[in-house]
Amino acid sequence: MAKGIFNIPYPVNEPVGAYQSGSSERKSIKEFLKKLKSKEMDVPMFIGGEEIRTGNLAPINPPHDHQHLLGNYHVGDETHVNQAIQAALNAREQWAALTWEHRASIFLKAADLIAGPYRDLINGTTMLGQSKNIFQAEIDAACELIDFLKFNAYYMQTIYEDQPDSQDGMWNRLEYRPLEGFVFAITPFNFTSIGANLAASPALMGNTVVWKPSETQIYSAWAFMEIMREAGLPAGVINLIYTDGPMTGDIVFNHKDLGGIHFTGSTRTFQHIWKEVGKNIENYRAYPRVVGETGGKDFIIAHSSSDPEEVATAIIRGGFEFQGQKCSAASRVYVPSNIWDAVKDKLVKDVSEIKMGSPEDFRNFMNAVIDKRAFDKIKGFIEQAKDANNAEVLTGGNCDDSKGYFIQPTIIVAHDPQFVTMCEEIFGPVVTIYVYEPENFEETLKLVDETSPYALTGAVFSKDRYAIDLAMKKLENSAGNFYINDKPTGAVVGQQPFGGARGSGTNDKAGSAMNLLRWVSARTIKETFVPPKDFRYPFMEEE
Ligand code: NAD
Repeated sequence: MAKGIFNIPYPVNEPVGAYQSGSSERKSIKEFLKKLKSKEMDVPMFIGGEEIRTGNLAPINPPHDHQHLLGNYHVGDETHVNQAIQAALNAREQWAALTWEHRASIFLKAADLIAGPYRDLINGTTMLGQSKNIFQAEIDAACELIDFLKFNAYYMQTIYEDQPDSQDGMWNRLEYRPLEGFVFAITPFNFTSIGANLAASPALMGNTVVWKPSETQIYSAWAFMEIMREAGLPAGVINLIYTDGPMTGDIVFNHKDLGGIHFTGSTRTFQHIWKEVGKNIENYRAYPRVVGETGGKDFIIAHSSSDPEEVATAIIRGGFEFQGQKCSAASRVYVPSNIWDAVKDKLVKDVSEIKMGSPEDFRNFMNAVIDKRAFDKIKGFIEQAKDANNAEVLTGGNCDDSKGYFIQPTIIVAHDPQFVTMCEEIFGPVVTIYVYEPENFEETLKLVDETSPYALTGAVFSKDRYAIDLAMKKLENSAGNFYINDKPTGAVVGQQPFGGARGSGTNDKAGSAMNLLRWVSARTIKETFVPPKDFRYPFMEEE
């Protein structure tokens, strides 16, 4: 029992390392990458605090050098899914009963371990396993993850502090219980921090978790689990399994103790999950919380008053960093004809200067896309644009998977605003631009709103305040993260809570108290100090 009202250290965002030439951090990560590349890691699952090796091995290859072997992970089957669920259920009672300051300490310690001695491990496994340059790895695997861990601990305290009023003679209290059962975290390949946070945030709130990462993020997911063990996370609180998605889903979504689902990934997968939960609704002990952040078709709309250089830079950074594989990446852009030539010239020039290759070579701005499946899908969209008569490829368009899955940064100009690459999520370094007449700004806003089923991120560029105001009103429901004169990527924990609605998810804003509230089920307690001893009310007295 806590004997004090404790305060979590007030969080500040982790400073982003510059890794400039000659710096000690650059030397350190370069040496660490060499070390990682020189050995083949044996990557076990973690169930009930045990390392599980099945002997059924699958390779971990860098997307930018697919013939190199970084290691192998042990693939699990149905038995491991069931074991992981059981381990989570077994650990629940003790973990849920542990006072919150102890839970917070573990996650705060993990944040400091990542900030210090394990920074190279989490960045290095992300750089090689997911093909991120050092800057992209640093802002994701190190900084965002540290921020998630620290800010969430702080937000947990603010939730616990939120208590109801009490009138004379009573004391009303709210107790934020973890959910009954276990939480299932299903995570995508593109952000190490998202994967870790989807498992860690329900655990922080007192839940126990089965975590199934994407097959292409296992290297850095394993690194995070090593760090959590070092931080003192008790056995069974997070159980990490490498199992087939649909097979795992079939077992988990049928389980009566499923307390919640914390998902990030594609809209298609999330809609499947939601249907499965609906199908099984009568079998659960409690209604499972379903939290999902999914796809996007994120936009930039430039107004005739905007600066062409600012617009072009936002397109390049917002569209091509991490090869456009951010859910927030700019992928459809609406440019007015009065600035188009200037935007186009800068785009063509800047794109020609982008270097692409291995993240081990720090001069590269771009690296490889995640795997063969993604490569083929993105290439297919580019081929469609090359063959179309209502679109043309302005820059890039070449794809080469001989050594790694490399796709040139590609800009398509669509003459039809409904051209396929203006509408569908591509999840690669492909940006499509539609040029509109400046007097049609308001109609174009309507087009932006209605073109895609998603509503994740979007940006307006303008120097005209009335135009900004109009865009904000017309696009009120078109993006959960809306940017004014900035690229639509790069949300920072504690500053721009992240998430979208419509087809993009349940908008529960990762890295905020809004998200953490989904992992608790409040118990209202009313205590009366002097209970009445007579059922009669004064109004019932004789006249
Ligand atoms: P994905 O949907 O292919 O996979 C996500 C996870 O779901 C993986 O772990 C996968 O194995 C698992 N899965 C697949 N089918 C399943 C099933 N039937 N049952 C249970 N689990 C199943 O997504 P991805 O390719 O890894 O990630 C890219 C997608 O994620 C993009 O659409 C992107 O927009 C989205 N994303 C969204 C956000 C956001 O915050 N909105 C953030 C990152 C990524």
